[in-house]
Amino acid sequence: MRLLLYAVLILIAYYVGRNLLKSPGKRAANPPAEKQGAVINEMVKCPVCGTYVPQSQAIVRRLGRQAYACCSEECAASLRA
Ligand SMILES: [Zn+2]
Repeated sequence: MRLLLYAVLILIAYYVGRNLLKSPGKRAANPPAEKQGAVINEMVKCPVCGTYVPQSQAIVRRLGRQAYACCSEECAASLRA
């Protein structure tokens, strides 16, 4: 019974260690500024009419791999056509 407990502890230590090794790379890819809402206030240009809208209010449409941020549902609809 005690052996099982050790096995579980080793497994937990293994996963924690692996996550610690992973995290520096992840942090480099995603700057902390993104989490603090810096991106939310960023202005994006509507690809249809060229109007700038806050990213938080933009309507995002995906065409294949590309994502487009539109100013309105109308623009998003015409983008799809
Ligand atoms: Zn637009």
